Amino acid sequence: MNKGSLRKKLLVSHLGVAIMSLLAIMALVYGVMYFSFGKYTENQRQTEAQAILDDLQSTYNVQTGGWGMDTLMRITHEAMMRSYDVKIYDRKRQLIWDTNRMGMMGHSMAGEQEKSQTTAERSQYSLDIRNDGQTIGTLEIQGLEDVFAPQNQQFLQMFSTLLWVALLIVVMGVCVFSVYLANGLSRPLQQIKRVATRMREGDLSSRVELAANQKTEIEEVALSLNHLADALQQQEKLRKNLTADIAHELRTPIATIQSHIEAFQDGVWEPSPDKLEVCHEQVVRLVKLIHDLEYLTALENPMLKLQREKVNLNEVVRNSVNAVKGQFTHKNIILDIEAKQEIYINGDYDRLVQVFSNLLNNAYKYTSEGSICVSISESTTDAEVSITDTGTGIAPDELPLIFERFYRGDKSRNRKTGGAGIGLAIVKAIVEAHGGTVHVNSIVEHGTQFCVRIPK
Ligand code: ADP
Repeated sequence: MNKGSLRKKLLVSHLGVAIMSLLAIMALVYGVMYFSFGKYTENQRQTEAQAILDDLQSTYNVQTGGWGMDTLMRITHEAMMRSYDVKIYDRKRQLIWDTNRMGMMGHSMAGEQEKSQTTAERSQYSLDIRNDGQTIGTLEIQGLEDVFAPQNQQFLQMFSTLLWVALLIVVMGVCVFSVYLANGLSRPLQQIKRVATRMREGDLSSRVELAANQKTEIEEVALSLNHLADALQQQEKLRKNLTADIAHELRTPIATIQSHIEAFQDGVWEPSPDKLEVCHEQVVRLVKLIHDLEYLTALENPMLKLQREKVNLNEVVRNSVNAVKGQFTHKNIILDIEAKQEIYINGDYDRLVQVFSNLLNNAYKYTSEGSICVSISESTTDAEVSITDTGTGIAPDELPLIFERFYRGDKSRNRKTGGAGIGLAIVKAIVEAHGGTVHVNSIVEHGTQFCVRIPK
């Protein structure tokens, strides 16, 4: 895997999302800011203008019909300090005071016209001066916006600088985060790739090392790969064993037949009935092995057609018991069948008899004394048959293998119990063809329980 490309893709996508969202937020904040800021500065101006108006209204001298010099000078001083112009007109629109000219006006409008050119572009507030409900004049203020402009400008500039700094910090953070994330993702993926490559090259022993308590999707992929490697290693082992097992199963009967025939040819032995019977037994064993293998192959064919009919499961079990029991009369084993009622399922009678015959045959084979209990029960959807023996039991490490073809436990091999290790593979194939499951529980030296569950 190209580590750089993962990093680049993550970086681009993260940066894209972060920058887009930040720009959207910035546009929104700017919009809201300018709108409310405009309102705020307008309020500032109105408050300022209102203060001058209040001053004029409260200091109006009704007798003289004007204002004292102290009021006018105070307003002029304030206007000069804050760089705006104030003009005061009487009720006949005659200019009586202009702070720009520092004083009382005659009635000439000539000066005012000159000035109007330079102040034309400055915004103007015009307010009526009132006394006792009567308009006694007009107050005009020009250039009020300049009073607050520098502070406002400064504030706006600082605000936008902060936004850009935030954008820069986020971009840097996203870069660091993406690199960290890409490294975190690519490291286990690299390891998975390495293990998969080794597996492809035939080394099934390597595994991905997993951190103890992490369970991300990537770790789950690694875990699945480890399971796959386990399964492949197991299959590989079974495949190798299979060849050895087939050779082993064939060698014993063929060697017996060969040695007998050679002895007959050399005149060492007479082909007496008992010697011929030994040869016949070995041939029968070979024929059975071939038959079992063909049967299993047919069962594992996905196109297998079961001869389904309504089957009395209790009868199937009784028939299986009868077919098997006769071979083990020499053993001191009590067989018990527990069933509350007759249970019917939709299945293939003969194949089901084969399932329970194989399981009972094993239960007898691997139990020297004690009991075998067959229990038949049902739920709303399934029928269940469990066969419990008090035999040798199966070691925990053998349990996952016993359903494999040709798998024989050590005890089975040593004791020469006669099976070829195909019985349980046939059981599993028939039960699964019925849509059912077979489970095993076992304790060594205590006994084994096989549970077959088949949908009704
Ligand atoms: P086999 O012909 O060897 O019995 P199976 O496929 O029927 O072949 O069984 C596979 C292996 O499972 C046996 O070799 C034996 O080790 C183990 N096994 C099966 N059934 C039992 C049982 N009831 N008790 C103990 N071991 C069992």
